[in-house]
Amino acid sequence: MTDDTTSHDLCLFNSLTRELETFTPVHPGEARVYSCGPTVYNYQHVGNMRAYVFADTLGRALQYKGYKLTHVVNITDVGHLTSDADEGEDKMEKMAALQGKSAWDIAAFYQADFEQDLRRLNIEPKQHPRATEYVDKMIEWGKSIADKHCYELDSGLYFDVSTIEDYGRLARAVTEDGEGRIDTVEGKRNAADFAIWRKTPEGETRQMEWDSPWGKGAPGWHLECSVMGEELLGFPFDIHTGGIDHREIHHPNEIAQNQAYCCAGGLSEARNSGANIWMHNNFLVERSGKMSKSSGEFLRLQLLVDKGFHPLAYRLMCLQAHYRSELEFSWEGLEAALTRLKRMVMAVQTLKARHAELVSASIADAAPWMADEGWTLKQVQGDGWGKLGPSLEKFDGAISDDLNTPVALTALDDVLGMKKVDPVKKGKLAAAMDEVLGLNLFGLTRVDLRIRPVSAEITEAEIEDALDRRKAARAQKDFATSDAIRDELAAKGVEVMDGDPLGWEWKLS
Ligand code: AMP
Ligand code: ZN
Repeated sequence: MTDDTTSHDLCLFNSLTRELETFTPVHPGEARVYSCGPTVYNYQHVGNMRAYVFADTLGRALQYKGYKLTHVVNITDVGHLTSDADEGEDKMEKMAALQGKSAWDIAAFYQADFEQDLRRLNIEPKQHPRATEYVDKMIEWGKSIADKHCYELDSGLYFDVSTIEDYGRLARAVTEDGEGRIDTVEGKRNAADFAIWRKTPEGETRQMEWDSPWGKGAPGWHLECSVMGEELLGFPFDIHTGGIDHREIHHPNEIAQNQAYCCAGGLSEARNSGANIWMHNNFLVERSGKMSKSSGEFLRLQLLVDKGFHPLAYRLMCLQAHYRSELEFSWEGLEAALTRLKRMVMAVQTLKARHAELVSASIADAAPWMADEGWTLKQVQGDGWGKLGPSLEKFDGAISDDLNTPVALTALDDVLGMKKVDPVKKGKLAAAMDEVLGLNLFGLTRVDLRIRPVSAEITEAEIEDALDRRKAARAQKDFATSDAIRDELAAKGVEVMDGDPLGWEWKLS
């Protein structure tokens, strides 16, 4: 944008072509996005949540660019084995056996927990279809591709990857060798062939099983995303997202099914894959290695909250890295993100107070800064931004450059730190930027950000009460009592922060 009225084209990195491409919607004015969702056999770890923060930021950016968004994040409640390559046990059934519950109860419990994490991270509501609700459609889909593209073995119906063009292009894999895949299922024609339907072994009963032309059993994991994507968004839709691990097996297999179903040609035409753009977020990693929830202890959002971190500090930590870069989790990094978030919230509070003064002096309108649906770029353009104009330019340029959120955040910092500008304009622009980044700066207060760790020996009410008593003592110049209260709090791990520039009155050490 060179002035207030022109904008940058939205460019996104397409994993299928490995190139930055200008976003051109399939349906004018609309954006249809499918994001691979969680397998609800356990809690999600914060690494998984990075995938949803990324998908949400993408959705917000599309809305800010003026597109009407339809966004699906599926819930995998059947079919996902402990390895992505048709090996191992069914994750849902395994956890059900471990906890002595039904697989359905396990799914309902962990889906509810996942949705709570989404809300805590200020992720906008999306459609969450469950795989088990689409099994009939998956069977129909299987029937329609079986003759030309599949073969039956004792263990189920398998997709023959040699029957479609360009298998594995997304992964850039050498398919003849199966690239690290182990040909564990006896009788498979190609190492990369995968299950469309998994038959329940003779003499066994599964909790989740359905009748099909290939016998009682359950669908293969990859099939659900093909079916729900086509049902809910229609082929081709605009963007398909997932974590970088899905670029290797899950998404190539989804693409193969889509090509077979639509009888489409090769992948030099992206639309034949089912979606025009495939996007993948890189991993959140731990210094000790891969983040995992299959192996006992793992980091989940609740653990961060238990240690006194607001969930949006985690969202900010994610946004501080580009989604295509690996991000290392550390408590120090999270602490720094929380401090930055506090500064931003303080700046907004000061701005709100200034605005309120102007309103009461009838100098400014009380019009809300936030539009009901969030501001689009069009709505904030042409407002005569003056000194704030270059920050809008920088922000739009960054978001348009494959969602460069680290730079976009600095544009927001610039706006919040700008002196001698109209506070109403400053507020509107900051709100518009925050709408894309999703930090809820205008909804949060510093009290919200001050979370008591579960390990603390004292409640928040007790702390506030002690601080009130201390204030009263100081007002009466009774410094002995004031110091005694300070020591009493220190003994319980509460540090009183007199003169903190951010206005934090206490923190738990
Ligand atoms: P899952 O529940 O294992 O199917 O994973 C849900 C989503 O999280 C998928 O999009 C994965 O690609 C993504 N994911 C898994 N681990 C990580 C990680 N450590 N960092 C970022 N995304 C991840
Ligand atoms: Zn998927």
